[in-house]
Amino acid sequence: MIFLLSYTNSAATHLVSLSKFPILRIPQLSTMSTNFFKSHAFAGNPIKLRTPKPTDPFSPPSALKTLKNLLLGNTHEPHSPNFKILPFRKGRPLAGSVRGSNEPNWHLGWLSFGDCKAFLENSEVNLSEDTLVYLGSDSEGDGAYVVYWGIDVTEAGNGLVKELGSKQFCFVELRTLMVATDWENASSMGQLAIAGHARSLLEWHTVSRFCGFCGGKNILIDAGRRKQCSNELCKKKIYPRVDPVVIMLVIDKENDRALLSRQSRFVPRMWSCLAGFMEEKVWRRL
Ligand SMILES: [Zn+2]
Repeated sequence: MIFLLSYTNSAATHLVSLSKFPILRIPQLSTMSTNFFKSHAFAGNPIKLRTPKPTDPFSPPSALKTLKNLLLGNTHEPHSPNFKILPFRKGRPLAGSVRGSNEPNWHLGWLSFGDCKAFLENSEVNLSEDTLVYLGSDSEGDGAYVVYWGIDVTEAGNGLVKELGSKQFCFVELRTLMVATDWENASSMGQLAIAGHARSLLEWHTVSRFCGFCGGKNILIDAGRRKQCSNELCKKKIYPRVDPVVIMLVIDKENDRALLSRQSRFVPRMWSCLAGFMEEKVWRRL
C-alpha cells in the first residue's frame, strides 16, 4: 500500500511497504526487507583494505616509480604490478555493460596503461604523473599485483567519448550504476565502492589546485594521495577532504513500511531515504 504524503515540483514523499513495493526491488531480491538496508552502497572499498609497505612494488611510491618509467617509454619490468586506469568525465566513471546477460549489469571501464595512452593521444589530457591518481592495489594471484589509478578526462572533449563509445564504453552517473547493481553481489558492490572513492578523490584534486594559505600551486605528493603547496616559503600539506553527512530511514515496523522520497531529477527506479545537511531538515520534512 502506498500513501502519497506530499508533492512539489522537486520532490515527492511516499510511505512504501517494505515487502510489497515492486519498483524498489533490486535484481535478485524478491522482497525488500529491513535486511536490505544493512548493505551500504559506496562503502567497503576492497582495494583500500590493505596498507602496503613503502617497499612493496604495489605501494604508492613504488607504483609512481614504475609509472614514471612507463611514461618515459621504458618497457614494463617483469616484477612490476599491472596497471589499470579508470577514466572519469564530469564526475562519471567509464563503464560498460556485461554482454550476454539479461540482468541489468555493468562493469567499470578499466583501461590498461597502453590503451589509456592511445585513447588520450589526440586529446587535451596528458597522461602524466600529475594527472594519474593512485587508488589502491590488489593481488591477482601467483604473486602478481595490480595497481589501480584514476584520471579525470573531462577536458578531453566529445572526440574521446565517441572513440570509447565505439568500444562499447560510456561515462555513467554513479547513482545510475548504484540502481543497476545487484546489492547481494559483493564483487559488484566492491566495484561501486571503488568508483565512489575514485570520484571523491578526483573531485578533491579538481577543487584543490591552489593553496588556500598563499595561493601557490599545489602539487601531487605520494602518487596523489595528498598534496603540498609548491611555494618554498609555505609548503602547506593538504589531505583529501572528508565531508560528514547524515541520512536516515524512517521505519514503521508494525506495518512493515518505510518512508522514502524522490526528486524529479532522480533516474527511474531511484528513491532515497530522507536526507539533509542537518537532522533538523529531515524533521521539518516529516
Ligand atoms: Zn601555500
